[in-house]
Amino acid sequence: MKRDDTLKVDADIMHGIQVADCLDKLVLIQNNIAERKNDIVERKNDIAERKCELNRLTQNKKQQQEQVNIAVQARLSTMKIVDGSNWLNIIYWKDADLATTVRIAFTQVFGGGFTPTLQNKEVKCKICLAEVVVPCNSWSDYKSKVKGYICRDCLVKQREQKEQKEKEQHRLSQERQEKKDIIFNLRTMPYDEYLYTEHWREFRKVALKNAKNKCQL
Ligand SMILES: [Zn+2]
Repeated sequence: MKRDDTLKVDADIMHGIQVADCLDKLVLIQNNIAERKNDIVERKNDIAERKCELNRLTQNKKQQQEQVNIAVQARLSTMKIVDGSNWLNIIYWKDADLATTVRIAFTQVFGGGFTPTLQNKEVKCKICLAEVVVPCNSWSDYKSKVKGYICRDCLVKQREQKEQKEKEQHRLSQERQEKKDIIFNLRTMPYDEYLYTEHWREFRKVALKNAKNKCQL
């Protein structure tokens, strides 16, 4: 075999090995894709099952809620409005989920709207994170305080900082105005009058110093 032919055979062998490598890799990738597809199908089945369970639980909760509503209304109908209101108030503040039940029961039995009594609840100040007990007039009032309550100390501090900032801004704008007025006066006054001003004396002093007290001409 000539040298060129040997080289050609070598090249063919190398090419063959490369193709085999690529094929192996391709098979691996395909297997991987097939596995992932199986995973996805399994997960979809899992999600579907969980959705079913959630629907069932939601349905269950509705039925329970309905039963609680009926029971509360039945008990309430044997009470006078003052006792009934006190009793409902205890139920109301037991759990936020019972708020609707209480409101419906009150309206059904006594008519009108139910007003809960003030309840002390612990909330955190969103600035200093201190825990504070505050009176809340409803669960939604409590929830809004949980989200964004600011304690008295922090409110005072905020107000002081705001006032300080406003004072500083006022002072700065006054200073700017005074400077403007001075410059306007200097620009508009007659030259011989200008020669008697503090501004001229200062300007002259600096100019002389720069010129090392020698005449510049
Ligand atoms: Zn605070």
